[in-house]
Amino acid sequence: MPDVCEVCGNVIYGKKFQVNIDGALMNVCSSCSKLGKPVTVTTKLPFKAQKIPLVKMDDSFSDLGSLVLRKEYPVIIKRARERLGISQEDLGLKIKEKSSVIKLLETGKLEPDYNLAKKLERFLKVQLYEELEDELK
Ligand SMILES: [Zn+2]
Repeated sequence: MPDVCEVCGNVIYGKKFQVNIDGALMNVCSSCSKLGKPVTVTTKLPFKAQKIPLVKMDDSFSDLGSLVLRKEYPVIIKRARERLGISQEDLGLKIKEKSSVIKLLETGKLEPDYNLAKKLERFLKVQLYEELEDELK
């Protein structure tokens, strides 16, 4: 059975992270790992050993086809939310995410994974993905 991120609910591709979010120990995907404090291991590992290179998820996201996350997603989310006249907290409540997640998304510090992006698309009636094809031609 694949590991599922306890924050965004997405299947975890690659490395699973254990982080402390608001005092709760959670298994999360790499995107959501930024939301919590890494669980401290008893022995100190050199920082380099823990650092994981950012990998483009071309293969693991094959179900997306040629869709890629639009680079301007932070603006799209923010504008759509403001159009609805709701706060980051409200949006978080509506899509069952912490307002801190919304904040990270709108500042471009967190890329939504597929499930989260789809929730945002549905609720905000926006498109966060675009076809990659044109750029490849
Ligand atoms: Zn996640």
